[in-house]
Amino acid sequence: MNVHEYQGKQVLKKYGVVVPGGHVAFSPDEAVQAAENLGGSLWVVKAQIHAGGRGKAGGVKLAKSIDEVRQYAQELLGKVLVTHQTGPEGKEVKRLLIEEGCPIEKEYYVGIVIDRSTNRVVMMASEEGGTEIEEVAEKTPEKIFKEVVDPATGFLPFQGRRLAYNINIPKDKVNKAVKFMMGLYQAFVENDCALAEINPLITTTDGRVMALDAKLNFDSNALYRQKEILELRDLDEEDAKEIEASKYDLSYIALDGNIGCMVNGAGLAMATMDIIKHYSGDPANFLDVGGGATAEKVTEAFKIILSDENVKGIFVNIFGGIMKCDIIAQGVVEAAKQVGLQVPLVVRLEGTNVDKGKQILQESGIDIVTADSMADGAQKIVELVK
Ligand code: ADP
Ligand code: MG
Repeated sequence: MNVHEYQGKQVLKKYGVVVPGGHVAFSPDEAVQAAENLGGSLWVVKAQIHAGGRGKAGGVKLAKSIDEVRQYAQELLGKVLVTHQTGPEGKEVKRLLIEEGCPIEKEYYVGIVIDRSTNRVVMMASEEGGTEIEEVAEKTPEKIFKEVVDPATGFLPFQGRRLAYNINIPKDKVNKAVKFMMGLYQAFVENDCALAEINPLITTTDGRVMALDAKLNFDSNALYRQKEILELRDLDEEDAKEIEASKYDLSYIALDGNIGCMVNGAGLAMATMDIIKHYSGDPANFLDVGGGATAEKVTEAFKIILSDENVKGIFVNIFGGIMKCDIIAQGVVEAAKQVGLQVPLVVRLEGTNVDKGKQILQESGIDIVTADSMADGAQKIVELVK
């Protein structure tokens, strides 16, 4: 689960990570109020969306007066911001962070990830802050330094010092940088983060070391024990279809293609997407209805697939092991009737009660194309959506 920058900063602040003064604002009036509360003479008006690259896309504005704060707030609120992370459709700005304008000396990068190859938490740092870290990793990987954390000891101060020296933090600010990293690590572990990225971390001309940006991502499997974090969830930022799917305990991920897939089991779902691709088709989603799906669940899954207007055909690929093919067939028929199916539907069933299942499909009177194998089904649906 992602949160907004201002929320991430609030979390980090509790762990002693220094962040600029700032307030969230939902309207130009609130933005002005926030700037007045902050005082000073320089403010930054920052669009809050769950995507980075806002600076380059015009979503981060430096305001030199309260009037400018109002003007930028008016401009940004309601605007659809297109950054390299939002995709071409962009994201509508509904919240702003009004922040103290900081006297930046230099921008750095610090991030914490879980490294699957070492099964360890890894802290990364680079002198090349502000820019896209992916670009640094590609062009000048030697400028990214890593510290692997031993879970028995946690992140140790000497590792922080080594990172700080490696990225050339000025000597008089090394201690502050180490404190920063220790706090960041603590926040990461205690809140079950999957990612914590500070880009940029800055040193200021008045001697501070602080997080100018914050991207926190939380492991959704741990949210049951992170109630405070769960409250930060912003449903506006998530795909409506994915939210609906989560209500019915369906694993659904929206994709760009036009073939809706309904499959049981994550492995089979992946294989189904692969085989569609193999026959030059494009899946519109990943959908695992799970092992114990009921007819109701299948119906909901169908509705969700069809609510995606890009879907030009549906491929149901079910292996009835725990799940029985006749239940699936009932669900498919029920759903097709309820939603008034307008697009081609290919069904491949295999496993327990398969004959009963096929009979239900045949007798339903609905236009269903049956397939004998995965490959057969994939070829048929790819042909039908052309
Ligand atoms: P994004 O990564 O989405 O582009 P950032 O929060 O990293 O957004 O901001 C982009 C750039 O804007 C920063 O690299 C920094 O140069 C500038 N900036 C952001 N916040 C402030 C601030 N509070 N004071 C001064 N400059 C800022
Ligand atoms: Mg940034």
